[in-house]
Amino acid sequence: MAIATINPATGKTVKTFEELSEAELQQKISLAYDRWRSYRTTSFAERAERMRAAADLFEKEADLAADLMATEMGKTVAAAHAEAVKCAYGMRYYADHAAEFLADEPLADPSAVGAKRALGRYQPLGPVLAVMPWNFPMWQVMRFAAPALMAGNVGLLKHASNVPQCALYLQDVFRRAGFPDGCFQTLLISSRRVESILRDPRVVAATLTGSEPAGRSVAAICGDEVKHTVLELGGSDPFVVMPSADLERAAATAVEARVQNNGQSCIAAKRFIVHADVFDAFTEKFVARMRELKVGDPFEASTDVGPVATEQGRADIEELVEDAVSAGATVLCGGRRADGPGWFYPPTVITDITGDMRIHLEEVFGPVASLYRADGIDQALEIANATTFGLGSNAWTNDEAEQERFIADLDAGQVFINGKTVSYPELPFGGIKRSGYGRELSAHGIREFCNLKTVWIG
Ligand code: NAP
Repeated sequence: MAIATINPATGKTVKTFEELSEAELQQKISLAYDRWRSYRTTSFAERAERMRAAADLFEKEADLAADLMATEMGKTVAAAHAEAVKCAYGMRYYADHAAEFLADEPLADPSAVGAKRALGRYQPLGPVLAVMPWNFPMWQVMRFAAPALMAGNVGLLKHASNVPQCALYLQDVFRRAGFPDGCFQTLLISSRRVESILRDPRVVAATLTGSEPAGRSVAAICGDEVKHTVLELGGSDPFVVMPSADLERAAATAVEARVQNNGQSCIAAKRFIVHADVFDAFTEKFVARMRELKVGDPFEASTDVGPVATEQGRADIEELVEDAVSAGATVLCGGRRADGPGWFYPPTVITDITGDMRIHLEEVFGPVASLYRADGIDQALEIANATTFGLGSNAWTNDEAEQERFIADLDAGQVFINGKTVSYPELPFGGIKRSGYGRELSAHGIREFCNLKTVWIG
């Protein structure tokens, strides 16, 4: 894919970018490695001061950052503004907590291991490559960069090819916040050059957020090189509604959960599994709300749903919907693209889905909801877990025994009861199965790229 800003609301190319030459890439990797050797010895206080300065810049420039996001990938400007503010919050969170999360862990009774003193100490690993997606172009990067830099690592960013201005802006924010050159660098390169970076001995680990094929490729190379990886991949999150749920709130939240970020969120609820007793009532409310959404220009304040980020992304959605419809699925709303420029796709609800349809098996990365009927909690769980993914999950019920059952039996990295899956700096974030492995955010996220060194003093 060419490295370019192409406005998804118009389909027009706004700006194109040259890839780094091989010599420039090598220079940046050398700079990262050399910088790490001094940066790793800086104190938490020094790092935190710069991280807070970066958070201040983000907040002050939230309008500018929002403009870049909306132009490059089409999210509504209100959502983009909220993303910039959330980045500032996440940066301050790690500025405030890194020292506590990475404090020495002394053994209470060192004599048990024949020592005077024994402890675990967290140390940074070195330059880490982050391969990032376009859907949350600032927040996804931040949840890697803030903990990684606070831990004393340095970051190399290979961002998605359709968000180069966001990628360059991020580098610029860290530089202006006072991080020394080389602490955080954006690499404008295509994905085929990722392998050479992963095989470079100066780069010690990698994190990838993106699709399953991309994750598999990076993990295979890092496996071969015996380098640590974190993978945050796709999801097809279930959203189960049981009879005791508040249906009005469930339906309103279901709509938000499906169409957030124009339907392109890994933790968007994608499969709605509704108990037969409330299926008709829920469906009526859900479909009515999906129909009311205003699709349009992401810069208009009244827009609920902007365009799909890429032309290929919209074609993929259309293929999944057409495959289902041709095999007998029923479209309750949407289901057909609007004429005109831009890569818009309407909020869509599909039901009568069977196990052999592609829409049942694959992630739909757009505002399309799959609706299933379940006869009871066992069947609801069976449908919910019938996916290769295991990222987020949502269940709506006011029955405490049912809540416990969902917490115990939903196969996912996260379960939200009477809500929708959301990422917070305070909560661990990650998946199981083909949604990936490792955790971001919270104390777990900062420890991923640290060496937990065992210290024994006799
Ligand atoms: P993608 O095509 O996998 O791209 C993600 C990143 O990987 C981009 O920087 C891309 O670069 C790069 N890439 C692609 N193929 C690669 C390869 N073979 N080797 C190395 N790098 C490669 O995914 P996307 O379409 O941008 O993002 C959508 C996917 O991300 C969805 O599946 C979504 O669920 C997932 N996602 C997951 C999370 C999570 O936290 N679990 C969060 C957000 C999104 P180019 O752009 O240059 O191709």
